[in-house]
Amino acid sequence: MAQRPVRLMTSEDSEALVAHCPRPACRKEVRQIVGRGRPKTYCSEECRRLAEAELRRLDLRLRHYSSVVEQVRIDIASYQRSGADRDGADPRGELRLAEDALARAESALEFLEGDESPTVRALRRLCETVQPVVRGPAREAG
Ligand SMILES: [Zn+2]
Repeated sequence: MAQRPVRLMTSEDSEALVAHCPRPACRKEVRQIVGRGRPKTYCSEECRRLAEAELRRLDLRLRHYSSVVEQVRIDIASYQRSGADRDGADPRGELRLAEDALARAESALEFLEGDESPTVRALRRLCETVQPVVRGPAREAG
């Protein structure tokens, strides 16, 4: 329906408007005489029925592919939540920095064995808590 009707003078007193059938597979010229009832949209009744059927089929396809896209979005979000990309590179080196800091805190704690002051207990607890995050559950077990 992008085409705008083009005015054509066919004779001195009858004026026809020319457009094109909106069905993509057709696009035939549709002429109509001004002032004669409801304007025709499609070139024929058959074309109008075909267009309705084609629209229904396209709508089903759109809904099918939209649900596929939605599922892929859910899968991507799930991978991002599980941190699958974290096990690979570590592009900013944050995990390595955390690993080094944890190792330093652990060796400091070795010298503080038997010390049950609140500060040392808090540091011990912090190390135990971040160990599985920094090293991952597999390396924690080994
Ligand atoms: Zn048509």
